[in-house]
Amino acid sequence: MNQPFIRLLSAQTVNRIAAGEVIERPAAAVKELVENAIDARASAIEVILSGGGIERIEVIDDGIGIAREQLALAIERHATSKLADESLVRIATLGFRGEALPSIGAAARLTLISRPAHQDAAYKITVAGGVVGDIAPAPGVPGTRAIVEDLFYATPARRKFLRSARAESDAAEKAVWRLALAMPAVAFRLVADERVVFDLPAQTESARVAALFGRDTAAGMLELRAEREGVMLTGLAGTASCSRATTALQSFVVNDRPVQDPLLKMALRLAYRDVIPAGRYPVAALRLYVPAEALDVNVHPAKTELRFADANGVRSLVIGAIGRLLERPVSLAGAPPAFRPMAAFSPGLSTAARGFAEAELALLAPPAARGFMPEAPVPEHPLGAPVAQILDTYVLAVAADGALVIVDQHAAHERLTEERLRGEFLAGQVVAQPLLLPVVVDLAVADAARLLAQAAVLRRMGLEIEAFGPGAVLVRAVPAALKEPDAAALLRDLADEFCESDMPVALEARLDAALARLACHRSVRAGRRLGREEMAALLREMEATPRAATCSHGRPTFLKLTKADLERLFGRRQ
Ligand code: ADP
Ligand code: MG
Repeated sequence: MNQPFIRLLSAQTVNRIAAGEVIERPAAAVKELVENAIDARASAIEVILSGGGIERIEVIDDGIGIAREQLALAIERHATSKLADESLVRIATLGFRGEALPSIGAAARLTLISRPAHQDAAYKITVAGGVVGDIAPAPGVPGTRAIVEDLFYATPARRKFLRSARAESDAAEKAVWRLALAMPAVAFRLVADERVVFDLPAQTESARVAALFGRDTAAGMLELRAEREGVMLTGLAGTASCSRATTALQSFVVNDRPVQDPLLKMALRLAYRDVIPAGRYPVAALRLYVPAEALDVNVHPAKTELRFADANGVRSLVIGAIGRLLERPVSLAGAPPAFRPMAAFSPGLSTAARGFAEAELALLAPPAARGFMPEAPVPEHPLGAPVAQILDTYVLAVAADGALVIVDQHAAHERLTEERLRGEFLAGQVVAQPLLLPVVVDLAVADAARLLAQAAVLRRMGLEIEAFGPGAVLVRAVPAALKEPDAAALLRDLADEFCESDMPVALEARLDAALARLACHRSVRAGRRLGREEMAALLREMEATPRAATCSHGRPTFLKLTKADLERLFGRRQ
């Protein structure tokens, strides 16, 4: 065989290869073009998509424009106006690698029409499949228009991997959505196949979040602000009752750059782990400012993943700030969990299901209820004054505004116990109750070892254990707040908690979860009769306790039926 020649690839081939990396789908081209408009200090950006962006993408901005004599350079590889400091430390712009325009030009037909304000006319340049055309005058106002047609026509291998126009359009719209959230001071208009997806003026951050998350969702979100060692966190995050079936309503912006960073996603998940049920996801629009030297954005060509110098610090900052937000008491923490009984009464429902709903309602009838006429409810008590306990499980109360409050006493107790334990734990004062007869619990050998490795932490939680032969653990004391728990069940649950994932979960979240598990084992369960004073005490304690709106499993501890809810139920209003 002949000795092969080593040769340099042509610029065209290099650009096509790079295109595969930088522009993997229409959404990536849209992202790069909008980022260029933002870097050009545009105050208004319009994005027009056709056929999922595969047919056509147009991005129009009113930014600083590109001078005629620079147009050819703009589409050259590794040509950028943005990297003043080539150490790659201080990166103040969204772009800096100088590869988006040449990559798009290699894979598609790209037309740039641009005019800086001081230039009399606009000029146009085209690149199609890497072949650069002449520069010619064109009509145009100050700013830049970038038009991309027939994406991937020059790289058919890539074109084959595109999904439906609908799916590509969704992804491209999502890319604009993220950038619009990151830049509320820039007006954004997005049109997809002649449908106006959004048309937003320059606005405040919370107005932008309301516009892009939906007003109802935004009403369940609270502002947060925290700082730790030079890293600033601001934004809005949902209360426990404001969750979604997907992670679609989560946005992270770091130094004004939208990112999809695994560390931040995980921190958010952990922060809510204890208040949102499995399979539901929190909503949040978070913004971090990290000193340039503590951050590397050059990890990935798309720049959506980052490397933080102090990853643990960032994780703790997010978990801590959201933890404090979720701790705001019931009366302050936004709307209570919505009462949603409509499904049970909707005409589409089967008779069997409706019959079930009626049977449940029948249980509300007097024989099962034991009522009182207590003191009048006062506005300072959002959960109201108790009027009855039903089924030995639910406390009924009436609030000052007439709303009917229904409390699940077991779920509430569980959360109150958890918060009491947490308070004692944080103060280093968990009260341990020594067992008269220490209990031996048999576990899988690995579980026993895992628990014993945490013996010191568990001791601070009021649980005293020691080794007792292979796979066996001796329990000497349990947290007093749990009354008389089943020690064996408790240890098995905790062992699960400590092995559930091998991911480096932040210690705070790990301890929270362990405290929640402990709280489940409190011996007082549903089915206990409560006197009027006990019921009132429960309601008042819930109002004063952090995160009392949901139990440790994320289920609501109470429901509130307002006058409007009752009117809807009785068909008095829609
Ligand atoms: P980068 O953004 O990494 O610099 P690009 O290939 O995206 O690389 O763009 C190359 C250059 O073209 C930019 O550095 C900028 O000078 C110029 N440019 C691109 N788009 C615009 C725009 N919308 N307005 C003004 N200048 C632009
Ligand atoms: Mg760019």
